[in-house]
Amino acid sequence: MTRYADIVLPLYQPTYTFEVAEGCDLAVGDAVAVQFGVKAVYTGIVWRIHTDRPEAKRIKKISQKLYEKPLLSERQMAFWEWIADYYMCTLGEVMRVALPSLIKPRGADAQAFEREQFRPRKVAFVALCGAVLTEERAKIERRAPRQHELLALLEAQGEVRRSACDAAAVAALRKRGLVEIVEREIEGCDVGECDYDLPTLSERQQEAYDAILHHFSQVQTVLLRGVTGSGKTEIYMHLIARTLAAGGDVLYLVPEIAMTSQLLARVKRVFGERVTPYHSKITNQRRADIYRRLNRSEGGELVVGTRSALFLPLHNLQLIIVDEEHDLSYKQTEPAPRYQGRDAAVMLAHQHSAKCLLGSATPSIESYIRATTGKYREVVLAERYGGAQLPDVIVSDTIRAAKRGERKSHFNKVLLDKIEERLECSEQVLLFQNRRGVSPFVSCEDCGWTARCPHCNVSLTLHGGNRLTCHYCGYSEPLPRRCPACKTAEVRAMGFGTEKIEQEISALFPEARVARLDRDTLTSESACNRIIEAFERGETDILVGTQIITKGFDFSRVTLVGVLNADNLLNAPDYRASERAFQTIMQFAGRGGRGEKRGEVVIQTAEPEHPILRYVATGDYVAMAREQSAERQGFFYPPYSRLVGITMRYRSAEVLHRAAVELAEALRGRFSRRVLGPTIPLVDRVRGEHIVEIMLKIESGASFARARKILREVMAEVLNTREYRKIITICNVDAS
Ligand code: ADP
Ligand code: ZN
Ligand code: ZN
Repeated sequence: MTRYADIVLPLYQPTYTFEVAEGCDLAVGDAVAVQFGVKAVYTGIVWRIHTDRPEAKRIKKISQKLYEKPLLSERQMAFWEWIADYYMCTLGEVMRVALPSLIKPRGADAQAFEREQFRPRKVAFVALCGAVLTEERAKIERRAPRQHELLALLEAQGEVRRSACDAAAVAALRKRGLVEIVEREIEGCDVGECDYDLPTLSERQQEAYDAILHHFSQVQTVLLRGVTGSGKTEIYMHLIARTLAAGGDVLYLVPEIAMTSQLLARVKRVFGERVTPYHSKITNQRRADIYRRLNRSEGGELVVGTRSALFLPLHNLQLIIVDEEHDLSYKQTEPAPRYQGRDAAVMLAHQHSAKCLLGSATPSIESYIRATTGKYREVVLAERYGGAQLPDVIVSDTIRAAKRGERKSHFNKVLLDKIEERLECSEQVLLFQNRRGVSPFVSCEDCGWTARCPHCNVSLTLHGGNRLTCHYCGYSEPLPRRCPACKTAEVRAMGFGTEKIEQEISALFPEARVARLDRDTLTSESACNRIIEAFERGETDILVGTQIITKGFDFSRVTLVGVLNADNLLNAPDYRASERAFQTIMQFAGRGGRGEKRGEVVIQTAEPEHPILRYVATGDYVAMAREQSAERQGFFYPPYSRLVGITMRYRSAEVLHRAAVELAEALRGRFSRRVLGPTIPLVDRVRGEHIVEIMLKIESGASFARARKILREVMAEVLNTREYRKIITICNVDAS
């Protein structure tokens, strides 16, 4: 009987049916090259094999399988299906992000694809170049103990994995011509012993570790809430070692690549070559290699990566760690699938019967509620390792300071005095401002004109000395000398961003070495590493940055951190604003005082009495979380409901608004008061397209699967007309 295969292609439709050529040995999960349309050739994934002839007249055949082994396991397929169903997208859209591009060649490449190109991984070793002269050795022994130590080790062992060596010592010995780096190929997962050099856990940490294992024997997901510096990472290491020793795979997720460099170095010191980094900045070739290697692995893999690592073929997955689980960058917003990496991790662990550990100093309210209502279990680490104290918090009133003449440009005197103190004793300072650029908008003092992007309804941000840039589309124009509206007055920069702070602080402290870390300076992974490493080495005194410097970094010589303007965190138009403000400031505060000396945090605000700042000052997460939980419950916000954001975009405002009203009405017919909108967002035009939004709020008792099904049906009904079909409509499940 003729066999047919439903194939997933990186296109919009769920699947496409092809005939399986005689003698072609296909299995579900296999990658195949298929012809599509007249000329196009794609790589597709076999989703289902059956004998039901489809209706279409001409059905193309598939005959070419790309790899011996299926690219997807049944578990991976189940995961893709869950993502597509839950986040309301197609399997093709999942395929686009889930598989490295070189694994799914297009066009001629797919046809001429060589089967199973497999590259064994290369591992670098350090080796001696020859005998060391006695005289030189004596000199090294006297002056460079680390180099001496490494020499002794090399003489004893012949070669040592480069990752296990002190990088500076290797570099110095190479310069002297005493050692060389040799690369050798290593097959599969033979990456050395399982006997890792782990730090001994403190008593508190050991208790937490035991509690986690105990809870894992009863539930799948545990939330580890430990203040910054309490040693969560060390606990992860112990759990990882245990899992690897049992032959299991571990997935260690972090929210952003910017954070991975310090963490990777730390994880590599313990687990060496076993670590596989996976994030957006590694090359396509490397991603494809990693995918193929893992697909053949027999277990014992440790992947450290960002959310897309969830799609890697870890066939023996036993543990997922989601570090900084509260971080909003776990949610993908563009393009589909718009998945929440943390939530998807919990689901993936469930599908593998694996364990999932969520870790944070300031867990998301959702996770806190799930942990306190018994769905997850919670383990708390309340102290910093080694008894180090959490920093002292000083809330500084900007309005009062200004009245008393105790404010210079954007700094209160308290903050300036403290910066000066730190500079005098060569300690380091971090300054946080959650806006980039010099100034978020420029306007005319006389007539109120503001510079706006001609394509997007947002104000332009001033960068450098005189360039206005749109943060949405990148449009840029020179800063006008005179106001283009009234042609009389000059335009003035209003508000301030990181670049402005960098300029001002440099002017106030001309001797200080100042650097800046934000999306403008973060042009590549190496640029980011350069800035961070220079700061770590103490070559920078003051580091100014956006959100990014609040995350994960471990700088031992920072004793002062300053929040320049807490108000735009506290007043963000978002039901999560309070929670986020608390998380951001606490995380940021946690960057300081990691060394011996107690750190200080100075928070500048016009609302010193704000309850969130009180919780910050006392470090009282539970009080904050309880208050927020009550609010969430009262207003039916997640996790007491699920939010689906429906965003519609189109060139014609008139057609768009008509369609949105019709859609909202039709949805109300089915969901009644659960439909909010249509509303016009703060930024209602981007790249010349108008935007409207509708929000669907489904209480947690109701069937969310059914709600999604109805939503799909209603959208298809209303929007499938000639006039509306061109409107772009996006559903964002669990939108914030
Ligand atoms: P967290 O991840 O909770 O912020 P870390 O794991 O980064 O905390 O620990 C903070 C610091 O304390 C790190 O420099 C770490 O090396 C050190 N540390 C934590 N626990 C131990 C331990 N058991 N032995 C030695 N050093 C530790
Ligand atoms: Zn004017
Ligand atoms: Zn724009």
